[in-house]
Amino acid sequence: MDKSIENKLLKADAAFEQWKKVPFAEKQKLIAKAAAFLRENAEELGTIITKEMNKPISQSVSEIEKCALMMTYYAEAENVLQPEKIQSEYHFSEIHYVPKGVILGIMPWNFPFWQVLRFAVPAILAGNTVVLKHASICFGSGNTLEKIFTDVGFPEGIFQNLEVGHKDVKEILEHETIKAVSLTGSEKAGAEVASIAGKKIKKSLLELGGSDAFIVLDDADLDEAAKVGALARLQNCGQTCVAAKRFIIQEHIEADFLPKFIAEYQKYIPADPMKKETKIAGMARPDLADDLEKQYHRALENGAEVIIALERMSDTEFKPGLIKVEEGNPILKEELFGPLGMVLIAKDDAEALEIANNVPFGLSNAVWTKDPERQQFFINGLESGTVNINRMTSSDPRFPFGGTKSSGYGTELSLLALKEFVTPKTIIGN
Ligand code: NAP
Repeated sequence: MDKSIENKLLKADAAFEQWKKVPFAEKQKLIAKAAAFLRENAEELGTIITKEMNKPISQSVSEIEKCALMMTYYAEAENVLQPEKIQSEYHFSEIHYVPKGVILGIMPWNFPFWQVLRFAVPAILAGNTVVLKHASICFGSGNTLEKIFTDVGFPEGIFQNLEVGHKDVKEILEHETIKAVSLTGSEKAGAEVASIAGKKIKKSLLELGGSDAFIVLDDADLDEAAKVGALARLQNCGQTCVAAKRFIIQEHIEADFLPKFIAEYQKYIPADPMKKETKIAGMARPDLADDLEKQYHRALENGAEVIIALERMSDTEFKPGLIKVEEGNPILKEELFGPLGMVLIAKDDAEALEIANNVPFGLSNAVWTKDPERQQFFINGLESGTVNINRMTSSDPRFPFGGTKSSGYGTELSLLALKEFVTPKTIIGN
């Protein structure tokens, strides 16, 4: 391993020995300072995101503001890591929550600040230190985050960015200083990283891909569902794990809903990401656009019909596409990570539920119906970490976030995330 990388791991380990003793409330004060810094510098920090991965600037600034909101949530959170006294026949019995040490974060490019901070803030507040392996196109964001942590007063070594490619991950994860790993990214990366962690008996948390359903039933507000549905698919140029990727429409409203949906969809025209009014720009890298185009053609070869053609405008830009797909098309087992949506038709609620669940993923499905009984049917039946009723997915720091099936395991956000990288230690005394 490169000596400078090893030095960072040793520094994180040494910092942990002091950081774990800092009171929860003191750590919260530093997190509040970092939140304020982000809020005050949202435009400048948002520009880093846009330059790195093409996100329209208004969405980049919103990402920074959302990070600040999440950090404020943790800065004001109840300390659920205090020792808990348990009533028992013993003289005393307690649970203590002991931080694990240095945690490796492996993060993607699609939300270069949010994904990192969503993992790192609760891990650090719980008393751990963090080293980050960011996506290779996001080293600017990674270095900026490291600087923010030190500039607002966190001790050196609490949060460090490692400028390494994914080939270096194995050696880093196997290093004795690293106690656990959190990865947000593709299934392939998740499976490889979790197997390395497993061999070394180190905990892993995986936030992986999705192919969420957006189910529109016949009593839904179709105008609102069409508008929100287009945003749910095309925000961040479709490169969102919890984007609506499959639109499951009840059969007899297809003729009413589709024209509304198409009209909303066609409002997303690729433009300059630095302009405030831009809703969609290019994908993050040309090879990702190549992959999406290949998936589109494969879907059509397997029987999908074009509703709106996916049109390549440049190396990274597309006019967004929409295809009608039937069960059995192999494309339904894949994630479409870009501006291409799929429409499926279901005759009734039972069939809509069956189609929705018939994918390897389970992140955050949405159902549009006004009927409480129908809502309950989907709340009970949908296999996903989150179910949204009459809304699109957008994570909220107050609520747990995580997947089922191949979308991963472990919990981010909410008070539950504070307990992901601690060991509950049982104390029993007579
Ligand atoms: P990716 O290719 O898996 O990369 C994610 C991170 O993992 C990057 O830092 C990457 O480093 C690293 N990586 C890639 N292959 C690796 C390997 N074999 N061993 C160790 N590390 C490896 O994913 P992406 O294209 O950046 O992101 C898109 C994927 O992330 C989508 O599937 C999306 O759904 C998922 N995602 C999930 C969530 C969630 O919360 N569930 C949120 C956002 C995104 P390099 O850049 O150096 O290759």
